[in-house]
Amino acid sequence: MIHVSSVFKRLFGASWSAYLWAMQPHELLCPRPEGLYCPPGGFFIDPVRPVDRALVTHGHSDHARSGHRAVLATRETLDIMALRYGEDFAGTTEAAVLGRTMRIGDAAVTFHPAGHVLGSAQILVEWNGMRIVASGDYKRQPDPTCVPFEPVPCDVFITEATFALPVFRHPDASHEIAALLRSVRQFPERTHLVGAYALGKAQRVIRLLRDAGYDAPIFIHGALSKLCDYYRSQGIDLGRLEPATVESGGSKDGFAGGLVVGPPSAFADRWARRFADPVACFASGWMRIRQRARQRGVELPLIVSDHADWDELTATIRDTGASEIWVTHGREEALVRWCELGGIPAKPLHLVGYEDEGD
Ligand SMILES: [Zn+2]
Repeated sequence: MIHVSSVFKRLFGASWSAYLWAMQPHELLCPRPEGLYCPPGGFFIDPVRPVDRALVTHGHSDHARSGHRAVLATRETLDIMALRYGEDFAGTTEAAVLGRTMRIGDAAVTFHPAGHVLGSAQILVEWNGMRIVASGDYKRQPDPTCVPFEPVPCDVFITEATFALPVFRHPDASHEIAALLRSVRQFPERTHLVGAYALGKAQRVIRLLRDAGYDAPIFIHGALSKLCDYYRSQGIDLGRLEPATVESGGSKDGFAGGLVVGPPSAFADRWARRFADPVACFASGWMRIRQRARQRGVELPLIVSDHADWDELTATIRDTGASEIWVTHGREEALVRWCELGGIPAKPLHLVGYEDEGD
């Protein structure tokens, strides 16, 4: 297939530079019902419907779906997709190495770390000198379970907006973990149940507990075991983990004074009733909103987020040096307004299907 750019080159010859000048970013990446599409490369980024060629930023289920013909993602993201969907989650797979540029069609593509969960990446797409970064989900706070975010200079930066309101300012996660451990010491007869999403948050909370000096066994819900095992296989030491079953605890009181980590959904069902006088904790950026914590019956809210807060979002936009910002999945309006007030053109992308699995 002859690409439109080569036709233009032949038609305009010396006017080629004029064509480049007139080039618009949406010719390189544009929203489609399936997801963000790259016409020069013929691929989608994080498509929500099955496509021929998908580039996937990270393993959360709203970004990484099964059923694509070909998937390009980091080795860790491919492994996580196989764990969650089975080995046959895609027709073919290819592992992207961070920092290594690959050519796809007429576009060049480079994965860079996003600091969100193990294997998470931003995707730099280049074509005719134009650079657009699709950052997926990201954060800037240190996280001992994944490679830190790296600002990538670009013309257009596509940013998430999960916590894009000035009210969202995440404290240092280690402060929240210290509060959890204070509560454990204060109530030795009670079981602390920590709700944390299965991919990323749970392993980060466990690792932070270890960094804070907590070396007792941590009990985990069965839904976390495969991913915790995978993190350990990648060299992330989570210390001693035991299944949170009555057998392993001995009796209901066997968990008293202990820490149990499970997916937030598990705490609403019968599973949670096996623990002695539980203290319900929830590790999430949403815990900044006290009303949300109360509605969920959370006694000890822990503001631990794998998404950038307001300050991280605005700092990152500046760090990329981008001259245009596209905002997606979350509270787009406030961030678009902030960009415009600072003289940076910005627009919401209105991509659908991203539900924030990880926070
Ligand atoms: Zn995510």
